[in-house]
Amino acid sequence: MNILVYSTRNFEKHYLIKANKSKHSITFIKESLSPETVDKAKGYDVISLTPSDDASELTIEKLKEYGINYISLRCTGYDNVNISLASISGIQVANVPAYSPYAIAEFATSLLLAINRKLIISNERINQYNFNIDKLTGFDLNNKTIGIIGTGKIGAVMTKIMNGFGCNILGYDVNINQHLIDNFNMEYVSIKELCEKSDVISLHVPLNQSTKHLIDEKLLNKMKSNIIIINTARGAVINTKDVIKALENNQIAALGMDVYENEDGVFFKDLSDNIPNDEILKKLISMPNVLLCSHHAFLTEEALTNIAETTFYNIDCWSKNKETENQLTI
Ligand code: NAD
Repeated sequence: MNILVYSTRNFEKHYLIKANKSKHSITFIKESLSPETVDKAKGYDVISLTPSDDASELTIEKLKEYGINYISLRCTGYDNVNISLASISGIQVANVPAYSPYAIAEFATSLLLAINRKLIISNERINQYNFNIDKLTGFDLNNKTIGIIGTGKIGAVMTKIMNGFGCNILGYDVNINQHLIDNFNMEYVSIKELCEKSDVISLHVPLNQSTKHLIDEKLLNKMKSNIIIINTARGAVINTKDVIKALENNQIAALGMDVYENEDGVFFKDLSDNIPNDEILKKLISMPNVLLCSHHAFLTEEALTNIAETTFYNIDCWSKNKETENQLTI
């Protein structure tokens, strides 16, 4: 198969080349898929995409015209892919359903610990030889209540970690995970009750119509004023403007985020010489109680190996006319 890998990052190339085992011909490009770059797919059988690629109606129709039959995602989430249109157009799409829920849950924990214990502020002071520890007070996680929104693969690992910290755990999900109830004292409650009772909320739902702006002004108004919200899911699960307002009004205490609603075209790039004209992003960056990372929760050796291996497993299946269990359907 002739494969075009869009949005190639330096950190993943080595893992992809290794997983391919010289079976297919791969072309790596740094550009993301967009209406402007879709022409680059001409002449290939397969394209490989990430969350920063735009596989919406605008590009899917062109891809079909160019004879692309397969899209192999190098990620779990597929909110950026119009699956139903791809399916109607005869383009099969497969994802990497699980590559390391530990990578994401451990990162969510790192964000929580760093923001709660003010590690970044402390380190910034120390870099200035300021060893004062005023205003660095956090709180013990032991005996606090953490609300896990989305108790699938990542939410389940987060539950296990937080159970180890001695937290009381509340869960909200459309599907109940009995294993978490039996082994980690998870109590499933309504989203309203979860927001009212939690000291920390960690988000692990996919972005879809029912989760877009799930955390909005209405739910923020129900939260405790000392709450920390951690978002490693997708930026738009939170209404960012509402959260900024709540932070400014001291309605909530802090926000740790690995994902941002308008991250497309910004994250993964060095824009230090070309600062984006995004007032919301500038506001988030300026706030001392916001810890923002550029979507790298997945960046562990184990996760990158699994992503690369599943990406090529999906492509190998297709090349042998076998269906992959990772195929996405409407
Ligand atoms: P998963 O499918 O195992 O779990 C998602 C859970 O959300 C499921 O239990 C599902 O029932 C629940 N859910 C779906 N819609 C819901 C709704 N409307 N209300 C309540 N619950 C709902 O997925 P996962 O592997 O745990 O990943 C979760 C998300 O994390 C992914 O969809 C992706 O967006 C994000 N993610 C981020 C990174 C990163 O690098 N930051 C990496 C991987 C995944």
